[in-house]
Amino acid sequence: MNALSTSAVVTRFAPSPTGRLHVGNIRTALLNWLAARKFGGQFLLRLDDTDITRSTEEFAQSIRDDLSWLGMTPDGETRQSDRLDRYAEVLEQLAAAGHAYPAYETPEELDLKRKVLLARGKPPVYDRSALSLSATDRARLEAEGRTPHWRFRLSPDLPHRWEDLVRGPSHIDPASLSDPVIRRADGSWLYMLPSVIDDIDMGVTHVLRGEDHVTNTGIQLQMFAALGHPAPAFGHAPLLTGTEGKLSKRLGSIGVADFRDAGIEPLAVKALLARLGTSLPVEPVTSDAPLIEAFDLAHLGRAHPRFDEAELASLNAKILHALPYADVRDRVSLSEAEWLAVRGNIRTLAEAEEWKRIILGPEAPDPQPEEANYLGEAASLLETLEMGPETWGKLTTALAERTGRQGKSLFLPLRLALTGRASGPDMAALLPLIGRDRAVARLRRH
Ligand code: GLU
Repeated sequence: MNALSTSAVVTRFAPSPTGRLHVGNIRTALLNWLAARKFGGQFLLRLDDTDITRSTEEFAQSIRDDLSWLGMTPDGETRQSDRLDRYAEVLEQLAAAGHAYPAYETPEELDLKRKVLLARGKPPVYDRSALSLSATDRARLEAEGRTPHWRFRLSPDLPHRWEDLVRGPSHIDPASLSDPVIRRADGSWLYMLPSVIDDIDMGVTHVLRGEDHVTNTGIQLQMFAALGHPAPAFGHAPLLTGTEGKLSKRLGSIGVADFRDAGIEPLAVKALLARLGTSLPVEPVTSDAPLIEAFDLAHLGRAHPRFDEAELASLNAKILHALPYADVRDRVSLSEAEWLAVRGNIRTLAEAEEWKRIILGPEAPDPQPEEANYLGEAASLLETLEMGPETWGKLTTALAERTGRQGKSLFLPLRLALTGRASGPDMAALLPLIGRDRAVARLRRH
C-alpha cells in the first residue's frame, strides 16, 4: 500500500447485484477487506445496481449473506439506485465545465461510423462530431424527438498516469479511446461516472479490483481530476484462472454455496485466496490474523493465478487438523476430547460428526467370524482394565504376548470391530471415548 496507508484507509467492494458472488469477486472483496483490516480502516459494500432490469434484492441479500458467511461483514453499505439525483447534479457540473457533452447519434449511426473507420484501417474511436453541434442544431435534433446520451470528454491535459499498487507505473492514452458514454438516452447510468462520484462521497482511499478495470482506471482518473478531487490509490490484481484454463465456466459460477456444500470452511477460502498469486506460501492458518498481518499488495505477481478446488479441499483439511476446540464448539456436537481425538482425520466438519456417531454407535461393523476367538479374548481383557489413555497400549501389549500376533493382524481386527473402519483416529484416544461397555459389546458381537 502507498503512503496513504497510515491515515484512515477506506476500501469498498462494489459488485452488481445481478448474480451470486463467484470466486473471482470473493477474491476482490477479500483484498479490500484485508487492506481495511490491516490498517484499521473501513471496508464498505457498494451495490452497483444502476441496471434495474438485472439487479434484484435477492441477489443483494445473497451478497450480504455470502460476505457474512466469509466473516467479512462490511462496515457500511450504499446502493447506487439511491443516489441517482446526485449523479445528475454532478453531470450538470461536468457539462457546465466542458468535461461532458450531449450526443445524439443512434446506436445504428454509431455502428456505421465504427465500420467505416475499421474499413479504413483506423481505430474505431468516436469522432466527437457532437461537439461541433450548435445550440440550434441541438434544438432541431430534440424537436425531431431525439434525446441525447452523454459522453465524458477525455483529454491529454487531464491526468492519465498512475502508480498502480500491483502493476507499478501505468497509463492510458486518452487519444486512443472513445469518449465514454456516461448516461444513456433513456436517462440510465453506465458504471463509469457513478463509481467515481461514489468513491469521492464515500471517502474511498484505495480501489483494489481486477485487472479488467485497468483502462477504466485511466478514464476515471480523468473524472476525479475534472471534479477537482484527488483520486484514490489503485491496485489491479491479475484475474484468476481455473484448472482447465482461462475461460473456465466453472470458475465463473463457483461460490459460497458450493463451498458450503463441500464442507469448506470460510477460513480456508480466505487462506487460499489471500495467498494465491502472491510470493507468500498458502498456509493452513487457524485464524484471520496471520493473513491480515502479512497482507501486502506488493506480494502480488503479474501472472494469472490458478484456482484449484482440490487445493482448497486439501487446505481445508489441514486447517481443520489444527483448529482448536473453541473455534468449532458452536458448530459441532463433539466434546473437546472427541474433537481432539478425531480432528486429525477429517476433511470436513461433517466427517467429525461421522466419527462422533461411530464413537457412540450403534455401529454394525462387518462380521469377522474368523476373528471371534481373538476378539472375545480382547473383550475379556478389556473388562479387567481401567479405562484411560494407556488402556489401548496395555490391551494390545497383553494381546500380543498371549497370541503372538503383531502389526496388522494384532490391530486391524480390533479397529474394525470397534469402529467399523480400517483406518481412522488414534485408537488410544478413541477407545476411552467409546468407553468400556460399548467397546466390550462391539468386541463380543462376533
Ligand atoms: N460494479 C463494478 C464491477 O463489479 C465495480 C468495479 C469497481 O470496483 O469499481 O466490476
